[in-house]
Amino acid sequence: MKLSLVVPCYNEEGNVKLFADTIETTFKDSSYNYEIIFINDGSKDGTMDKLRQIAEESSQNIKVISFSRNFGKESGIFAGLKHSTGAYVCIIDADLQQKPEYVKTMVEILDEHPEYDSVVAYQDHRKEGSFLTFCKNTFYKLINKISEIEFVQGASDFRMFRRNMVDSILEMQEYYRFSKGIFSWVGFNNYYMPYDVELRNSGVTKWSFWKLFKYAIEGIVSFTTVPLRLATIIGILVSLMSLVYLIIVVVQKLFFSIAIPGYATIVTLILLLGGMQLLCLGIIGEYLARTYVETKKRPIYITREIIDNTKENLNAKKSKKSIR
Ligand code: UDP
Ligand code: MG
Repeated sequence: MKLSLVVPCYNEEGNVKLFADTIETTFKDSSYNYEIIFINDGSKDGTMDKLRQIAEESSQNIKVISFSRNFGKESGIFAGLKHSTGAYVCIIDADLQQKPEYVKTMVEILDEHPEYDSVVAYQDHRKEGSFLTFCKNTFYKLINKISEIEFVQGASDFRMFRRNMVDSILEMQEYYRFSKGIFSWVGFNNYYMPYDVELRNSGVTKWSFWKLFKYAIEGIVSFTTVPLRLATIIGILVSLMSLVYLIIVVVQKLFFSIAIPGYATIVTLILLLGGMQLLCLGIIGEYLARTYVETKKRPIYITREIIDNTKENLNAKKSKKSIR
């Protein structure tokens, strides 16, 4: 198989059929074979019925991996990569925000440039509110300062990998999967391709501001331990400052008999120190909680059903029957 398309779907009943049809028309006259791997990430609408219908009726190679519940897009990507058989593997959303024509371009780039292992689509200009853009810019600046790996601003999950890179990504078995970090962490040579995002075909985005905030924290905690060091630095700074203040107070009292005003200073200091301690405890807690979950080694996703109508699978079934 030349190309595998990995398509995570969560409540995409209005999109999956059009997606499959659009892929079919886009690749109609391409000379290579491809498969579409839909991951039904515990959708609560009719997505699974639609996928079943597509697998039955379509002449394309279709696989459907259906999860037992919603595990999140990151788990969907992992499952898709695991079931992929293509020499090239492309992650693409089901909502048609990423035009399938770009996939063709990605294949051409990898064909023509053996020195690149992946093609990463990035947004030149974001089509979203200025507040969200500001938050995202700040996040990228912060994480690039404190993390060892590089996060490229605007780089999306819309990417195509060569098989060797897919295998490396699959070797990373962590439960908390911040894909953008994992893709950078494994290294390899990336080609950055600018692209324009389309409007969502149907349905709504699954990303609320709160979800994005949690995702940002995830990225930081997964790929840098600098915040933990922050606790040490705050501790050292506060200790030094209090030592200086102690000397000032003692000198004032002993040599100048100045009455030290008490209440306001004490209350302020207690609150300040209490706040800092809670902040540091919280940071430690974030790391500890993740360590706790990771040690349980729970599966990244659980499959409820797999449908495989790819020609390879059907041929294998046929030859099994004929042997009997
Ligand atoms: N998605 C998923 N599981 C989730 C959330 C989203 O598989 O828990 C899929 C979704 O169906 C879509 C892709 O991930 O194909 C991107 O999601 P969405 O369009 O909501 O994100 P946006 O494009 O707004 O960043
Ligand atoms: Mg989308």
